[in-house]
Amino acid sequence: MNGPVPDVLIIGAGAGGCAMAWRLAELGVDALVLDAGPPFATTDFHADVADWEDHLFPERPGSQGRCTAQLDRLDPSWDGLRSWSRNYGPQAPGDQRRFAAYQHVRGLGGSTLHFTAESHRLHPAAMALRSRFGVAVDWPFDYAALAPHYEAAERQLGTAGSPADRSRPRGGDFPLPPHRPSYASQRLMAATEPLALGWVPNPVAIPSQAYGGRPPCIYCGQCHRGCQVGDKGSFDRVFLAPAVASGRCSVRHGLRVLRIEAEGERVRRVVCRDARNVDVVLEARVVVLAAGAIESPRLLLNSAAAHSPEGLCNESGQVGRHFMETVSTVLSGLHPEPLGSMRGLPADIISWRYNAPDAIPGLVGGCRFTPATATAELAGPVNHARRMLESWGDALIADLRRTYGSAFALGAIGESLPHDKAFVALDATERDADGLPLARIHAGHEASTPARLKFMLDKSREILAAFGITDIREQITSYDLFNATHVFGTCRMGADPARSVVDAGGRSHRWPNLFVADASVFPTSGGGEAPTLTIAAIAHRSAGIVRDALARRDI
Ligand SMILES: Cc1cc2nc3c(=O)[nH]c(=O)nc-3n(C[C@H](O)[C@H](O)[C@H](O)COP(=O)(O)OP(=O)(O)OC[C@H]3O[C@@H](n4cnc5c(N)ncnc54)[C@H](O)[C@@H]3O)c2cc1C
Repeated sequence: MNGPVPDVLIIGAGAGGCAMAWRLAELGVDALVLDAGPPFATTDFHADVADWEDHLFPERPGSQGRCTAQLDRLDPSWDGLRSWSRNYGPQAPGDQRRFAAYQHVRGLGGSTLHFTAESHRLHPAAMALRSRFGVAVDWPFDYAALAPHYEAAERQLGTAGSPADRSRPRGGDFPLPPHRPSYASQRLMAATEPLALGWVPNPVAIPSQAYGGRPPCIYCGQCHRGCQVGDKGSFDRVFLAPAVASGRCSVRHGLRVLRIEAEGERVRRVVCRDARNVDVVLEARVVVLAAGAIESPRLLLNSAAAHSPEGLCNESGQVGRHFMETVSTVLSGLHPEPLGSMRGLPADIISWRYNAPDAIPGLVGGCRFTPATATAELAGPVNHARRMLESWGDALIADLRRTYGSAFALGAIGESLPHDKAFVALDATERDADGLPLARIHAGHEASTPARLKFMLDKSREILAAFGITDIREQITSYDLFNATHVFGTCRMGADPARSVVDAGGRSHRWPNLFVADASVFPTSGGGEAPTLTIAAIAHRSAGIVRDALARRDI
């Protein structure tokens, strides 16, 4: 056994783990946070080197996760949804959906290190899909119950948003005023006014003015490469650092948790391996699992023992079920005029017009639209030339001079409804360096997904046409390219132990001192909202429940 026994041991320093540690520290509870990955510093990020386009988020030893996937065969009747590039052809040739990327960072801050910091509250109706629309499930609490926790998380993140954004009930204004939309976005808003899309500045955890020791954004547009200036609300900086500074939180990085062990009616210890491959065993009164929607179910399944032969917390076979993925489309093309589209925040404005669960005619489950030029990697001149232009030699140089800054991408993200064919299990053959089975994502399309993707593509074409872009040069969709950006749902929370893994407080139905606090607890995904603010709000709420349980000694 190593070191003193903390009240709470948190596995994973990503969005959920950092928010949990911060709130526990505020509530006077000591916590130890473990993460498999390394810490990152602003000096690790390089958006300022000459070949910056060729460097995405940096890799450091231990920062890469791995998983495998079992994906659908494609249905020829939906061929119109397939991904293609005018210059590079089909992106998933053949009849099989392709695994494009597993982008989750291991490190202090988790995937918030390279997130674009969209900071969204869920649509209230998206939390009641069963009772209001007859599909999926309801959340075990409503928007009003989460609202104070959203407020606390937004305050800490310094979310910048507009008072004109009436898309969600709010008790007050956003902590910071909105960022001014870029020139390209202003042009889009003006040109598409007849479509009544209700564009508003996208709420982001990026300061529009100095806030909480963070400088204001410099608009390099490269949040997904890691924030060099340190203004972005990555959770290591905004939640973990103040938790540590409070004296109530300590952190150990480079420690891979291999399994959680239980004894009697409690979980007792976690078994880890450090960077030198030495095993470390740690005890705690409470364990909070926050390893993300792929790794949390994997760890529970890899923790099978005599008392839990199918995996920890898996008495009802619910661990790993109800996996929800990113349902997305991006259309890119050239505007006839210069837009300066290489400048500005990624996704700086948003349309919530089709976000409500009943907003897309004939479907349950909405979507949202944003500019996506930076996240589609079209802000740099090399990618612009490669993917938007077809000429060679002197003609290419002339075209580049004439068109650079006029590339524009429109993105949409939609509801991913839970269903039986989407789940995370253990891979039967592939193992990690510690000899443990990798997670295998089984991601079949839910029945309504192709129709939702078609709506997103058709509407994107209409928006781009109104903007003046009819010459589409790339269409990228999650129909044939699986991309684990927003993932949720594999340790669902709910009241019924037969249909969920944890209760409304994130507490295991089986083990009273085990909690889950990451994207895996989401019962439904929302209509394209970015999940991280909700992860933070849920963790903030659950931290109070952990504290109360510790105080009552019913842990
Ligand atoms: C490119 C990109 C852009 C995104 N942009 C946005 C955005 O703008 N807004 C938004 O809301 N969301 C965005 N997201 C999604 C967001 O980053 C995730 O939803 C969020 O980080 C998930 O939080 P989490 O707590 O569930 O897990 P994570 O943040 O993934 O954290 C899990 C942590 O657990 C650790 N861990 C895993 N297994 C173990 C183990 N066995 N032992 C010890 N530690 C372990 C990992 O190292 C990691 O640090 C984006 C994601 C990507 C990939």
